[in-house]
Amino acid sequence: MSAERETAIRLHNLTVAYDRHPAVHHVSGTLKTGSLTAIAGPNGAGKSTLLKAIVGELKPAEGRIEHTLGRTEIGYLPQAAEINRRFPIDVLDTVLLGAWKVSGAFGSVSRAATATAREALQTVGLEGFEKRPIGSLSAGQFQRVLFARLLLQDARVILLDEPFTAIDARTTRDLLEIVANWHGEGRTVVAVLHDFDQVRSHFPETLLIARELIGWGPTSEVMAPENLLRARAMAERFDENAEICEPAA
Ligand code: ADP
Ligand code: MG
Repeated sequence: MSAERETAIRLHNLTVAYDRHPAVHHVSGTLKTGSLTAIAGPNGAGKSTLLKAIVGELKPAEGRIEHTLGRTEIGYLPQAAEINRRFPIDVLDTVLLGAWKVSGAFGSVSRAATATAREALQTVGLEGFEKRPIGSLSAGQFQRVLFARLLLQDARVILLDEPFTAIDARTTRDLLEIVANWHGEGRTVVAVLHDFDQVRSHFPETLLIARELIGWGPTSEVMAPENLLRARAMAERFDENAEICEPAA
């Protein structure tokens, strides 16, 4: 593989702001193809903002994101609070929403896509749940559905925002196995996580952020006590009225 192909996503001096108030400052680094990376950091550190910038939901205020991936080649699982579960749709159709690549936005869903969706539901342990309305599922079951959807999307890069927060231990274990399989298949996987033990035991790379990058590299180095202390100290200074970021002249 050439060096270019090995680079999945590169961040160059990335600053992302809401209404000119920066939530992520001057982050640079590379997510290598096939890497398995945890994003860690205090509440309000900019973790979700960083993922949204990578998927293209937010535009950089400064700097840029470089990759050669098409829209469907990045799979994204938003934080639970941002997903509407009251939508009256059943489990199978929810999974099929991950199949735009297979069906096209206006095409009918193919029989092959339906078969693949059923298989994905089996993989996440939800065989027999096809017709259940999503509103009737437990948090863990719903997260399994969203993982089945990602399985169907078959993306090269997968970004997960707090996939295991408020999820039962058994589901977490099963879904971590799917994450490990994705990694084994050479996909690039990134997950925002709060559980440091999970980070240390399952994620070889870590990006530690507290609005600014604190560390990005091998987990054992990045999650060193002095870095965690620094992250916490920086979080105490987070200020909702942070100064406005002026673009570099
Ligand atoms: P994390 O995911 O690390 O908890 P976020 O990326 O959600 O942090 O938020 C980083 C900062 O940006 C926080 O101060 C948050 O209040 C602010 N923020 C997040 N989303 C918005 C928004 N839609 N509008 C304005 N500010 C936002
Ligand atoms: Mg978040």
